[in-house]
Amino acid sequence: MTATETIIHGKWVIPVEPHDVVYENYAVVIKDGKIIETIDSAKALQKYTGQNHIHKSKHAILPGFINCHCHSPMSLLRGYADDLALMDWLQHYIWPAEKKWVSESFVFDGSCLAIAEMLRSGVTCFNDMYFFPHITAKAAVQTGMRSVIGLPIITFANPWASDEDDCFAKNVEIFNAFQQEPLLTFTMAPHSIYATSEAGIMRVAEFADQHNLPIHMHVHETDDEVQQSLQTTKQRPLARLHKMNITSSRLLAVHMTQVNEADHEIIAASGSHIIHCPSSNLKLASGFCPAQRFVQAGVNVAFGTDGAASNNNLDMLEELQLASILAKAVANEPTAIDAAQTLRMATYNGAQALGLGEMTGSLEVGKAADIIAIDLEQLESQPVYHPVSQIVYTASREQVTDVWVNGKHLLADRQLTTLDEHELIAKAKQWGDKIS
Ligand SMILES: [Zn+2]
Repeated sequence: MTATETIIHGKWVIPVEPHDVVYENYAVVIKDGKIIETIDSAKALQKYTGQNHIHKSKHAILPGFINCHCHSPMSLLRGYADDLALMDWLQHYIWPAEKKWVSESFVFDGSCLAIAEMLRSGVTCFNDMYFFPHITAKAAVQTGMRSVIGLPIITFANPWASDEDDCFAKNVEIFNAFQQEPLLTFTMAPHSIYATSEAGIMRVAEFADQHNLPIHMHVHETDDEVQQSLQTTKQRPLARLHKMNITSSRLLAVHMTQVNEADHEIIAASGSHIIHCPSSNLKLASGFCPAQRFVQAGVNVAFGTDGAASNNNLDMLEELQLASILAKAVANEPTAIDAAQTLRMATYNGAQALGLGEMTGSLEVGKAADIIAIDLEQLESQPVYHPVSQIVYTASREQVTDVWVNGKHLLADRQLTTLDEHELIAKAKQWGDKIS
């Protein structure tokens, strides 16, 4: 027996795969960043004597949440402009502020703030899309967070790149520079059909094919987006993407609040993934993603927070709760997307969408130890009849006490181990003072 195993004991262990199973008084054994066994707690104590045993006796132990859509540096614009429609918000507030303030230091400080907030809500992997993606990548690597970095393609000039050609050239350089990072992968991230040209999208698709990368894109976020496309091309955005062969199991279609029969068929037949961002869609009154209908058609649906400027937090537990209750209201069906299904969408489905299904998303032997502990013994969670229900419908992010990414303990009893909480707050305040 080597002295390298860490054994996390929980009151409950919820592996997510197999589906809807809860083990009581159980443990997860980690070695070299990977899960090597899930085992009855008493047996683990006998088998792994002298090893590092961590006892979370009030807690549920489960896979970390996977945030499939974020613009992490926008945390520094949290609350900057609220109560507006998407295009008004973007054109008159967010894009001008970004033009003025976005820089490498803005992106680094904003990414660190976002990573800290995500860790403290149980996120172990995030999929990002923003300018200066190499800086977000650097922040993720430094903090030990698993990340999927979107390589953006945007038509208009911005503080990072002058046009699509410039974006593309920079992206290729960034893609090559981070190949050796074990916790980092990439997506190609054409912003949307209204902010990226068709030629740019085609170019992205070719690169994605060559390097086996997902394509991360806002699709049918609002009715305005669909109407604008109909006016200029007489086609809906998704139909255009379909004609361009972009719809496939590579596509992460973020939002999809506007869905007619033809759209539904394209998504279901192509194997595209839906990234559902309920808070952002509700706040911007963008519409309702018919999540239950997609799930029933066998579509892989996962969740994203979107950026903190349109949410206004990066709280995945809130997204779980909202997604589940919203699905019931939209489908007019109280049995829609039950608690176990919701938890699966926030973990296993997210990993599948990002092409990380072999690596993370459940507590299966051989997968990375991307694990969280949620304290269910607090007053607000009592009594506990069904731990999964309690997590989805009742728990708040303050109950996430511990987070491991690839076996590394990044949140220990609510304390960040690779980031300085006070420094993050001070820097965010400084940016707020400058920008306001
Ligand atoms: Zn977005």
